[in-house]
Amino acid sequence: MNDKKSGFETKLVHAGEPPLVDRSVTLPIFQTSTFRYEGEGNYHDIRYQRLNNNPNQLAVSDKIAAIEGAEKGVVMASGMAAISTTLLSLIGNGEHVLSQEDLYGGSRYFFDGDFKNFGRSATYFSLDSVDKLADKIQPNTRAIYMESISNPTMKVADLAKVARLAKERGLLSIIDNTLCSPFNFRPIEQGFDVVLHSATKYLNGHSDIVAGAAVGSEKNMRRVLETLNLLGGCLDPHACFLLQRGMKTLGLRVGRQNENALSLAQTLEKHPRVAKVNYPGLPSSFGHAFAREYFRGYGGMLSFVLDTDSAGTEKFFSYLTIPAKAPSLGGVESLVTRPAMTSHCGLSQKERDAQGIADSLVRVSVGIEDSADLERDFVQALDRI
Ligand code: PLP
Repeated sequence: MNDKKSGFETKLVHAGEPPLVDRSVTLPIFQTSTFRYEGEGNYHDIRYQRLNNNPNQLAVSDKIAAIEGAEKGVVMASGMAAISTTLLSLIGNGEHVLSQEDLYGGSRYFFDGDFKNFGRSATYFSLDSVDKLADKIQPNTRAIYMESISNPTMKVADLAKVARLAKERGLLSIIDNTLCSPFNFRPIEQGFDVVLHSATKYLNGHSDIVAGAAVGSEKNMRRVLETLNLLGGCLDPHACFLLQRGMKTLGLRVGRQNENALSLAQTLEKHPRVAKVNYPGLPSSFGHAFAREYFRGYGGMLSFVLDTDSAGTEKFFSYLTIPAKAPSLGGVESLVTRPAMTSHCGLSQKERDAQGIADSLVRVSVGIEDSADLERDFVQALDRI
């Protein structure tokens, strides 16, 4: 198969698949920590699972690179392994990252904690002020850090403009594309240098593994890989196998999740107990015009503010019958959370208020269930609070 010419769905199934082993149609699991030594002269070329050259690690890394349209990919033990390893390898001691303020909680805690302890620094900009971003660049700024859709308020910025600015100023542009998945958005095509994923989410799609990935140029990814080899966050071959299997149905799953989420967002927006719905597919949502311009679909994630307090929100959860109340996202099953109590509980009330994370904000990861069942379930729970 010619990877470059093939369509996205064909790549999902076939890209990165190595020659078949003993006529096997799928790649077997190479459950081995080590391989026979054949005179490799470089430490990083020794065949060993932590050095990320097991056939299952290589195959899934190649598939992720192909579907993101990147030269090289590196699969890792988690999304946070991908974020921390990439930032520590590409940002040097004394260098600075300019990051959007509305961030996944773990990334924010990393920037404010260990990233600083390792001699790097980060400052934040509001997604309202992308037009003035150039003013925030410092002499030691090395990269601009974005998320394709912010979590949990689902804002979308003028992403291509940020990538252009980074290029003009000789900075790296790094983006966490977890919430869009490459089905809806491929940042490399818009000029980003490095794309990160929590592959735990849409790439795998079945809430049964934790994994991460980084993709980008051969040169950048070689550096990331060598740092990863020493920090040690490698992905186990069995998890690689599950991730590779999950990715083959990404298009079918995310296509359906796009439809279900849009329909649910429209229904919620009409309900009298819902004060606000955040979903990039709604014209009322922050950055809808950019989502329309850059995305194939608006994604499976939405959030909404209930016109009640924390206790009322907990009651609402207890009335829901289909979605489980659980963190994480991107699986085939719908999940609900209250970010103020989970992913963003480490922020102060002031920081949460600044990002629009009310105590009654409900985040939904919309699954592939029947749309009508999901909507009926949310409406009956809303009617009872
Ligand atoms: N990035 C985003 C946008 C996330 O939502 C998450 C996890 O929820 C992560 C990164 C971290 O991924 P992981 O839990 O696989 O380490």
